Amino acid sequence: MMSITLIRGAQVFAPQPLGVQDVLIAGSRIAAIGPSIDLHGEPVQIVDATNFLLLPGLVDSLVHFAGGGGEGGFHTRTPEMHLSEATLGGVTTLIGALGTDATTRSLPDLLAKARGLDNEGLSTYCYAGSYHLPACTFSGSITDDLVLIDKCIGIGEIAIADHRGAQLSAAELARAASQARVGGMLAGKSGMVSIHVGDGDSRLQLLHEVVDNSELPPSQFYPTHINRNQTLLDAGIVWCRRGGLIDMTTSTNEAFIAEGEIPAAAAIAQCLAKGVDVRQLSMSSDGNASLPVFDQHGELIGLEVGRTASLYDAFTELVQQHDVAIETAIQVVSTSPARHLKLASKGQITVDADADVLLVNPDTLAIDSVFARGKCLVRNGQALRRGTFETL
Ligand code: ZN
Repeated sequence: MMSITLIRGAQVFAPQPLGVQDVLIAGSRIAAIGPSIDLHGEPVQIVDATNFLLLPGLVDSLVHFAGGGGEGGFHTRTPEMHLSEATLGGVTTLIGALGTDATTRSLPDLLAKARGLDNEGLSTYCYAGSYHLPACTFSGSITDDLVLIDKCIGIGEIAIADHRGAQLSAAELARAASQARVGGMLAGKSGMVSIHVGDGDSRLQLLHEVVDNSELPPSQFYPTHINRNQTLLDAGIVWCRRGGLIDMTTSTNEAFIAEGEIPAAAAIAQCLAKGVDVRQLSMSSDGNASLPVFDQHGELIGLEVGRTASLYDAFTELVQQHDVAIETAIQVVSTSPARHLKLASKGQITVDADADVLLVNPDTLAIDSVFARGKCLVRNGQALRRGTFETL
């Protein structure tokens, strides 16, 4: 029998503020939103949310959920992500990618992990490809992957301006992007090209060259790590003026900040202050990526692991430290990435959308409850469900 849950009296951000509303969840979908929903005695689970804000679940557009890294040798390969690492941070939708290593990591492994997390209650997708081109694919063709593999919604993260990248020409990148675009069109997907931007001096120059010399629009590309330093952020703002999208990375460490990385929330606040449309801005966690620390000669001298939950921390920082309104800040971590990636049932609280819902404390923004496709996975800030191999 379909489970029915009535969330009563929360202050709803859809992301636009809807005031105090009841939200009815039927199965995996939002069935109704209204000031006072009466079900005439039907048996439902009632959640009293009168002291909470209700927000759409977070959409994390870049997570290495099957593990990544390995840039310091085999012992530095990072572990897989566990379910509650996402749910306790309010993330209900994740897009997985390979990264540097497409030799000991594979797309079938990434897809299997995506399906596993899906079985455990999350919504997951993945990118074909890795840092390099020609892209590794499931089927031998980027276009075919997008058409034939349900969870495959684009390619990436393809590395540019990075010593670990394939040192691509604009023509090579344009060709791969065009294959993703056609596959996306045929399958009703975004066909997005996720771009890892390194700390090289060429910054976003290759993307400008591709757009200058092809028929591809800037919005085909989703460059991330734009908060790596101020010069790259400035280049990102120029890219936005051309109609592009930019993404900030929330996983960081003290060494990165000391070297000039701008905390993701501060970078978003800066873009908003400079007049960039919030719909062009997003943040992602880069969860389970290795966070390598290189010396001036490019030698690896340290390694840490990215956290998926850093995405919610950055959302909180955006509201509490940078005075960005909740209805704006939530777009950056939910509505905008869902729109860029053409995930129509994600990133909003509306009838027929997937019931990915957070209940949060209005004063501290601490997460109380997380519903993912209608199932309550977190309550009172505690995980109700753990991943299959997570220790309780
Ligand atoms: Zn990256």
